[in-house]
Amino acid sequence: MTYLAVPISASNPDQAGDRMSAAIAGGAEILELRTDYIENLNVDIVKNLVFEAKNKLSDGPPIIVTCRDKRQGGAADYPLQLRIDVLTVAIDAGAEFIDFEYDNFLNIENRQRIISALSQNSNARLILSAHDFQGKFDDIAALHRSILAACPSAIPKLVYTANHINDCFEAFDLLKSTIGERIVFCMGKAGMISRILARKLGSFLTFASIDDESATAPGQLTVAQFNGLYRGNSIDSDTELFGVIADPVAHSASPAIHNACFADAGMNRVYLPLHVENGSAGFDSFMRNVMDRKWLKFKGFSVTIPHKDNALNFTKAVGGMVEPLAEKIGAVNTLILTPQGGLKAYNTDYAGALDAIIAGMEITKADLSGMKVAVIGAGGVARAIVAALSDAGARIFVYNRTVEKAQKLAAEFDCDSAGLDALANLDAKLIINCTSIGMHPNIDAAPVPVGVIKSRMTVFDTVYNPAKTLLLKNAKKAGAKTIDGITMFVNQARAQFKLFTKTDGDADLMRNVALENL
Ligand code: NAP
Repeated sequence: MTYLAVPISASNPDQAGDRMSAAIAGGAEILELRTDYIENLNVDIVKNLVFEAKNKLSDGPPIIVTCRDKRQGGAADYPLQLRIDVLTVAIDAGAEFIDFEYDNFLNIENRQRIISALSQNSNARLILSAHDFQGKFDDIAALHRSILAACPSAIPKLVYTANHINDCFEAFDLLKSTIGERIVFCMGKAGMISRILARKLGSFLTFASIDDESATAPGQLTVAQFNGLYRGNSIDSDTELFGVIADPVAHSASPAIHNACFADAGMNRVYLPLHVENGSAGFDSFMRNVMDRKWLKFKGFSVTIPHKDNALNFTKAVGGMVEPLAEKIGAVNTLILTPQGGLKAYNTDYAGALDAIIAGMEITKADLSGMKVAVIGAGGVARAIVAALSDAGARIFVYNRTVEKAQKLAAEFDCDSAGLDALANLDAKLIINCTSIGMHPNIDAAPVPVGVIKSRMTVFDTVYNPAKTLLLKNAKKAGAKTIDGITMFVNQARAQFKLFTKTDGDADLMRNVALENL
């Protein structure tokens, strides 16, 4: 069992009482009373708070009392003797756990006071903790052994700062290689997934805060995010892992979409935001970390900016299978880890766009043969769409701000090209915007002059934030058919979901969740 612990970081007893009630209502399975946050702290305050928690809050969860040393992240610089007094009083008042720093426990006098207090109450347990707010411990496995050697009945707590997502794997390895009660996870934004996976890997507890303001450590999630977005309640050792590899990743709607579909289908799977920094080197080592640890049960990834070509190169380097059109596009947005430990690479962007066009225009793929299409942009999305349309036999004209890039793309797929000024003379059955023009926050911009759009045309804007761009509004006014970027986004996510699960995700659910998260 991994408990969800909620820290109570209040500055006074009244606020602490309110926050304890809110934490219990929110689903806290353990309360951590961070007494170092209380101003003018004294032992009576702690005695009363523990008493209140134990007796006034009906069916209240177990309590950890902590008075953290300033050198290990404490909020105030209370003297060591007061901090030990607080812990001994907490034990007397009925707290189930006290948390004391391993470094301070090594001092014989401190140790004797703590052990003596614990011997008065057989229900109370000691958590012996070590924190590193800068980076990794020198040797986390040795530190774990030392803590247990110092007090075999204690629960070791080893928490360090991940400066890159790859730093999390040491925490995973320690949890995998040890048994018994232990608390292991990483702080910092880069360590966020270790807080979620603590439950999968059997850490005694993981922390989440009531809200962002009451978080007590960098990278801490809220209870709502942990249990809602990341399905923390349903994670266990069998949970299969998926995620989106990106840099940055915080803006991505993919975790919300895929987790909603996993929940809808009752699947024991969770989809994580995987912030992989340091370009291809960071990407390659992340993938090797994952592939070297099959026991983590990572099964598939969405891949986006800036890693689409890194994913292609890595798959080839490890002898994996690359879908031919992904190879032609030169970008991979989906990776599947096979049960044999191999890798398969796909691109669902082109199929997502093609399906959106076919459904939006109410045509078949064969109808695209010979159709005049104007593609605006020559970046990654334009490339996927040009490859798909070229495959279907369309007559494509590529327009781009940087003319050389338009020329290069056009030459590769045997089509025509020009700069954006030529858009004034555009004549096509289908216009597709593959630039970021019109994207939030520049929502008053459109790539195509108003008079160019005719009612016989269809206008497809790949921009999905906002869903109704100025280009689409202008097209609607001109009487043209419109296709929005959300449709393509949902289509490519559905294609990924199919590759991940071999089942279809609910398109309406995906669209609604995508709209809610933009
Ligand atoms: P990219 O590779 O960076 O390409 C960006 C393209 O936009 C280039 O052609 C660039 O022209 C052009 N551009 C950017 N700012 C411009 C400006 N101010 N004026 C004129 N042209 C400008 O990006 P991408 O991955 O292809 O993404 C392009 C857009 O597609 C995104 O902004 C996003 O809205 C949309 N998108 C949609 C989906 C979906 O599923 N619906 C998925 C991904 C992306 P230069 O070559 O001259 O720089």
